[in-house]
Amino acid sequence: MKQNTKRHIALLGSTGSIGTQALDVIRDNPDKFVVEVLTAQSNVDLLITQAIEFKPNTVVIGDEVLYDKVFSALDSMGIKVYSGTKSLASVVEMDVIDMVLTALVGYAGLLPTIHAIKAGKHIALANKETLVVAGDIITKLALTHKVEILPVDSEHSAIFQCLAGEFHNPIEKIILTASGGPFRGKTLDYLKTVTKAQALKHPNWSMGAKITIDSASLMNKGLEVIEAKWLFDLNASQIEVTVHPQSIIHSMVQFEDGSIKAQMGLPDMKLPIQYALGYPARMKSNFPRFDFGLDHQLSFEKPDLKTFRNLDFAYNALKKGGNLACILNAANEIAVAEFLNDKLSFLEISDVIEKCMDKVSFIENPSLEDYIQTDTETRLLAKNLTVKV
Ligand code: NAD
Ligand code: MG
Repeated sequence: MKQNTKRHIALLGSTGSIGTQALDVIRDNPDKFVVEVLTAQSNVDLLITQAIEFKPNTVVIGDEVLYDKVFSALDSMGIKVYSGTKSLASVVEMDVIDMVLTALVGYAGLLPTIHAIKAGKHIALANKETLVVAGDIITKLALTHKVEILPVDSEHSAIFQCLAGEFHNPIEKIILTASGGPFRGKTLDYLKTVTKAQALKHPNWSMGAKITIDSASLMNKGLEVIEAKWLFDLNASQIEVTVHPQSIIHSMVQFEDGSIKAQMGLPDMKLPIQYALGYPARMKSNFPRFDFGLDHQLSFEKPDLKTFRNLDFAYNALKKGGNLACILNAANEIAVAEFLNDKLSFLEISDVIEKCMDKVSFIENPSLEDYIQTDTETRLLAKNLTVKV
């Protein structure tokens, strides 16, 4: 990856939690980064404000109905404006771009990431769903096109940082830490009646709605187990999850001599975002530091897979392979959206996922078209199941 020159960035999902924090990092380091592309699905006002500040070459608004508003605000500044899903996949191919930060949420990240890799762009990957859906295709493509996939997810960034300088040393296992979310230690009986407001209240992190619900249901950790498999070429038995409510250790690697390396710090997504954007350099920051002078207690617990079944489903999807993780992801996206629409209860999210994993046809060696078809089929089934429960 080129160093000592400004890095030209396409930021997909610039109005979200990761997107806005990435722009904070970029704003603080104007000598290191140039924003070439900003994209958002529907938050036009923020997208326009960001474009006026960062003056990208191009912006894309996902929702085509909103195109005129963005165009009339930015055209006079010479900023190109496009809309729709297809534009998202083509803007990442622009010659000037070095790196694409995938900070958009869900399956929508898959095709733009594929286009970016094929065009030789390095990927700073926040959009874990892309690796969950088609990790085999993405990792193979990255190898072929010699691009780096740099993790932004804090746990995977932690592992990646622990692996620096350990290239030739095999990993015995990794230990992903999980905060446990707002419902840590709760029983199935308690979870029957939890509300959307309770589920949206994460103890340690402020994030987009979908990942916050995924954190409450432990699906986020399930998706991260699968993400780790593809990023670090591991099998299910090498990936352990421990609940660490303080979120100070962001994850660990255990090597074959039994030595364990951990990466630590206060929970702040700007650190992994900045590590990926600036890789391999560490950039100076004034983020608050962890203070060993204070009386901290760091604790670890086993995850409760009987209550938080989503994590168990994810391990099953990982072990069985094929298109099962794609099914898991699509069912979860629909079930979480329906929970947020008050159409499903919290525990019914898992019921919908379980039924989809059982009913949608299993494909052992899926092609990209198979994944696209599986996603469509699963979404339909998950929607029908929602009507029935
Ligand atoms: P968010 O909901 O806050 O933001 C999502 C962004 O994607 C917005 O800019 C939105 O306009 C855009 N978007 C939404 N739907 C889209 C679509 N269909 N097509 C194109 N763009 C679309 O989400 P977030 O919390 O920033 O998370 C983004 C990604 O990063 C997710 O994959 C999440 O799992 C991952 N991640 C987030 C965090 C975090 O702290 N927020 C941590 C680790 C990983
Ligand atoms: Mg994470």
